[in-house]
Amino acid sequence: MNKPNFAIVTGKQYIFAFEEGDGKNKMLLGGKGANLCEMTQIGLNVPPGFTVTTEACLAYLEKKQLPAGLMDDIRRHMAALEKKTGKDFGGSTNPLLVSVRSGSAMSMPGMMDTILNLGLNESSLAGLIKQTANPRFGWDAYRRFIQLFGKIALGVADEHFDERMGFVKRKYGARLDLDLDAEHLKELAGEFLNVVKRHTGKPFPQDPYEQLEISVGAVFRSWMGKRAVDYRKQFKITKDMADGTAVSVCTMVFGNMGDDSGTGVGFTRNPGTGENVIYGEYLVNAQGEDVVAGIRTPKPIAELEREMPEIHRQLIELQNRLESHYHEVQDFEFTIERGTLYCLQTRNAKMNARAMVRTSVEMFGEGLISKERALLRVEPAMLEQLLVPQLSPDFRGKCLAQGLPASPGAASGKIVFDANTAEARGMAGEKVILVREETKPEDIHGFFQAQGILTSRGGKTSHAAVVARGMGKPCVSGCEQIAIDDKARSAMIGETTLHEGDVITIDGGTGHVYAGEVPTVEAAFSGEMVTLLAWADKEARLQVMANADTPEDATRAREFGAVGIGLVRTERMFNSTDRLPIVQEMILAETQEERQAALDRLLPIQRSDFKGIFKAMRGLPVTVRLLDPPMHEFLPTAAQLELEIAHLHQLRDSIGALKDLPDTLKLLNPKLYQQYADGLRKLVGGLHTFEESHLEEDVIHRKETVLKKVRSLEEVNPMLGHRGVRLGISYPEIYSMQIQAILEAAALCAKEGVKIHPEIMVPQVATVEELKRIHGHVQRIHKVVELTHGINVNVKFGTMLEVVRACLRAGRMAQDAEFFSFGTNDLTQATFSFSREDAENKFLAAYNETGILQDNPFEVLDIKGVGQLMKMAVEDGRRTRPDLKIGICGEHGGDPVSIGFCHQIGIDYVSCSGPRVPVARLAAAQAKLLEAK
Ligand code: ADP
Ligand code: MG
Ligand code: MG
Repeated sequence: MNKPNFAIVTGKQYIFAFEEGDGKNKMLLGGKGANLCEMTQIGLNVPPGFTVTTEACLAYLEKKQLPAGLMDDIRRHMAALEKKTGKDFGGSTNPLLVSVRSGSAMSMPGMMDTILNLGLNESSLAGLIKQTANPRFGWDAYRRFIQLFGKIALGVADEHFDERMGFVKRKYGARLDLDLDAEHLKELAGEFLNVVKRHTGKPFPQDPYEQLEISVGAVFRSWMGKRAVDYRKQFKITKDMADGTAVSVCTMVFGNMGDDSGTGVGFTRNPGTGENVIYGEYLVNAQGEDVVAGIRTPKPIAELEREMPEIHRQLIELQNRLESHYHEVQDFEFTIERGTLYCLQTRNAKMNARAMVRTSVEMFGEGLISKERALLRVEPAMLEQLLVPQLSPDFRGKCLAQGLPASPGAASGKIVFDANTAEARGMAGEKVILVREETKPEDIHGFFQAQGILTSRGGKTSHAAVVARGMGKPCVSGCEQIAIDDKARSAMIGETTLHEGDVITIDGGTGHVYAGEVPTVEAAFSGEMVTLLAWADKEARLQVMANADTPEDATRAREFGAVGIGLVRTERMFNSTDRLPIVQEMILAETQEERQAALDRLLPIQRSDFKGIFKAMRGLPVTVRLLDPPMHEFLPTAAQLELEIAHLHQLRDSIGALKDLPDTLKLLNPKLYQQYADGLRKLVGGLHTFEESHLEEDVIHRKETVLKKVRSLEEVNPMLGHRGVRLGISYPEIYSMQIQAILEAAALCAKEGVKIHPEIMVPQVATVEELKRIHGHVQRIHKVVELTHGINVNVKFGTMLEVVRACLRAGRMAQDAEFFSFGTNDLTQATFSFSREDAENKFLAAYNETGILQDNPFEVLDIKGVGQLMKMAVEDGRRTRPDLKIGICGEHGGDPVSIGFCHQIGIDYVSCSGPRVPVARLAAAQAKLLEAK
């Protein structure tokens, strides 16, 4: 091939033939383009073509026109294609047709546009028909092209074409597209040409180069289309991840040339389970999008073995060559044209967590990837999917209908029939299942808010299935028993009619659909998951602990692989219904004696709580935080009390009125009075006794005392008020009770021979002096407990770092503290001077949208600010005490990016909620592996 002299005009090479493009340069060629080049170069059967770069796209978007000279370059490459294929673009004997395909560096399935069969016009169509001796095929290709080109390049809405299609089908009594013969399709093409003319005011362009030029521009523009922009925003695809779309121009091959032709999509392994068998679907005598669009329900690839054994053999060969080249599970598109297999696209497969974990372990076993790769290729946050609910295993109900198991997990919710309703009701906090015949990319906003997706058409690789899998949401597709009438907003399954708002349950693991809500259970760990996480633990330096407040939580956290409890919040124990009254007594106490009496009752309760947790975590450290929240959180609100008191006053007035009732009645209606005199006397007697007991007076009085206390505890800014260690300083007896309970629980466990490692942690410390005072209590009580129980109790004393000042004083804090635990929630609030609730409810979304902040700092640690403070505190603390143990608790402990940072600054452990422990374990290993790079 002659190298085109691109440089003269543009100074930049904007076009690469598949034979020459760099398969690794996805930023330039897009994922699709790069892989087409790479597949061509490793000798796979790819129809010839070339890729116009993303740089050309950016230049186009900037100037709103194709870069100068680009069309000349395209013409030269088309000439080369003509030579390679022996066909003639727009020619009337052996016409060359091409597809114009979008594709950026990041895969954005269905977000941008592709035009097929470009180059068709009256004369090339005649050529195609003569050449193939298949008029039906020719007209079918033509009408598809007019519609696609009309829609994508000229902006004529699908519905105008669909309406004509419906008309022609009705006219000839055709049920499926396939029932239309050549003459019908010819008529349809004519109708379509008219649709275009009517809506654009111009005839359909017949010059193939004009078609090509318009299409390339349209594909470039689709990069900035609303769908694509929304998608990038949702998935946080930034410019340095993907900037602009490339356009690949690819010789058409035809899957709709008869029964020895077809089209399909495949996965080199099962993307739902990870099993190492080729997986996918195909349709005989169909083209391009037919499989994905769910127009007909396709057949599983396994059936191809019977139907076209030779093609099946080639597919298996393709599977092996793709995997051994890419060292990754591939998702590929193929077309069979008269018995020849072509590969039209490949990319790394999107799989659910289960499949990712299984393939990691198995591909390592097969020698396809290294252990390092096995760990790095699984996105940690995905593992949470593995903990998605499943239908309760003892549930025996009969299902309403069965579709295809398209994305695992079970979900219940109210039926909604369109994406907008799903979005509205979902945002309003309702659980909804999006139910549609098929979904399209423009439904994406509905997916975000739905618990699950159910479609009546389309296969396991339909849009609905692919998108749901990516999001980890349950999906049942191709459930053909359901007849949806979205105008009437109802669906029929056999005899049953379902209306919008009715609750159903779908199980994306089996494809079953049930009426009503079905109980679900949490998923269990697979063997592969255990293996992978064991590898991760070996690799990681950072340890993973859990936040847990009860023995049950602790046990579960241990099952998730936590190597300790990094945070036990004692206030959670105070809040349970049997304890709250005692806690309130403690708060309401007027004297120290009264308070002590309440504390004496709390002591054994706390002690047994701690004992339970220590035992569940035998052999591992358990960090208990002393009481943290402001006292008023344990009391009812003033408003609530005022209401109750008002009710009681009303009750007292009503009793007064009842007492007067006999006299009033006697006066008004003596006869009636006589009739009821007996009963009335009894009633009044009862009221007297009630009054003498002063019951309501007592209650009113008590409530008024509480109200007074609540008012006295009221703070302008409770989160910055009398809480944490400040409470411990004002009421040393409260902290002393807790310290005693912890140490006694430890002593009791030690006596039973249970190895335990308790740690006492003080919240909200700002000054060294605060810490020293509490340390004094711990040391004193520690001695007493050891003496009374006659046993050594090992205990560590430490502080939370969640106040900015404490971080600044870390060097000195470390003299008293044997460990630090960053409370990154409060520390983030304090560093930003944001209150979390106000920030999240009022302005944070806007900050993120306008780019003032990249992430929500309460979810992803703000490395530049909060992180800097942490780094400094770590260094200062370790200077004082080299073996200082440092951890973090708070939301960030389960966030992979934050975990990476914690690893970098030398923190010893992260502590997060139980179900995020597996996520954190993998993230910790990745942090270590990436550091080495
Ligand atoms: P998407 O990114 O939406 O998958 P593609 O560019 O891959 O878009 O094309 C859409 C459909 O058309 C796919 O099924 C693809 O296999 C098919 N297709 C694209 N180019 C060709 C071609 N040259 N010949 C036959 N089918 C094609
Ligand atoms: Mg594709
Ligand atoms: Mg805190």
